[in-house]
Amino acid sequence: MPARIEVISGFGEKAPAAIYVQTTNKSGQTVRLLLDAGGSLEGLPDKGWNIPDNLDAVLISHDHQDHIGGLPDLDKQIPVYATPQVQPYLPKQLTVQTLPNKGTIEIVGIAVTTGNAGHSFGGVWIHLGIDNGLFYSGDFCKESELFPFDPPPTADIALIDASYGLYDIPQSRSKQAIRHSLSQTQPNLFPVPQSGRALELAMWFHSHSIGNGQDIDNRQRYDNWVLGEDCIQPNAVLTSPKGLFTTYAEQALVTMTPPPFNDNAHIILCGDPEGFSGDAGRLIDSGHCHVIYTGHLPAHAKTAVANDEAHFIRWNVHPTISDQATLIEELQCSYCLPLFTKINDLSEWQRRLGDTIIDTPIIEY
Ligand SMILES: [Zn+2]
Repeated sequence: MPARIEVISGFGEKAPAAIYVQTTNKSGQTVRLLLDAGGSLEGLPDKGWNIPDNLDAVLISHDHQDHIGGLPDLDKQIPVYATPQVQPYLPKQLTVQTLPNKGTIEIVGIAVTTGNAGHSFGGVWIHLGIDNGLFYSGDFCKESELFPFDPPPTADIALIDASYGLYDIPQSRSKQAIRHSLSQTQPNLFPVPQSGRALELAMWFHSHSIGNGQDIDNRQRYDNWVLGEDCIQPNAVLTSPKGLFTTYAEQALVTMTPPPFNDNAHIILCGDPEGFSGDAGRLIDSGHCHVIYTGHLPAHAKTAVANDEAHFIRWNVHPTISDQATLIEELQCSYCLPLFTKINDLSEWQRRLGDTIIDTPIIEY
């Protein structure tokens, strides 16, 4: 089956995800698929790329803006496949079909296999049964204590999330840094994504508050934490199909009951992650919190961090370079294209990840 893969957006920079795949199915028909349809990371109306003509289907990896924000521009006749947890976040006018969280279905004559990607609630990686396999990671993380990463089948061609570039600091170091940066006099505000990291941080603080952490400074208390009301709550584990959370999380979350939200808790976890709106936006404006960002920093947050009015400590939700290397080994691929990052020096990437690394946005075979 000849195939053409084109990274329309997301190659060479952190940009909205949109990957076009054209191939023939087992009946000999030409099939045109789009993997993700991302919108602007800066909240701009222009997503910066055009939707290809004559698409047969769009497959969505997860519900973040840079993977679904371009969907309002899609012709509503084109089927959009997403997992049940992602579907509520899609524009209402679309023709939505269900993608399994883990399993294989056939879409326009192509075998599509998915598995949990360890990055967000209901987020998946996608494997297409074209020749010896095409793997697209979506956004993935192998360090999450909340969401599992399912081992994928092997694939000849891999398109993998490399949002952090060559960064290689493990989560354990970030956790240490967060402990040391907590204020003892002000509420510590973490503006976090409501659908994932909020609960992961809550689980981490909770695990220490009940005395599980041997290395905790006794002067620091972790039990006084609150979770924004618009965040996924611990009881989501009770209402979700088994397998969407790690076994560790399934056990830990059932014993967690967040206290009612209040503005003076020692640790406040709430959205939005960029501090524009919601409780986080309101509390930042109030000026009474010690603010710690853990993800993407918009311009106002960068300025605050530069002026020492806020702090930044990365909480890994994308792979380190070591975890990219492990995934490439598991996939046994011949070609691997790192996405959502700038590749300044291809030989350095090849030195770290092997000779399979390529830096071209179009692959034809
Ligand atoms: Zn994401």
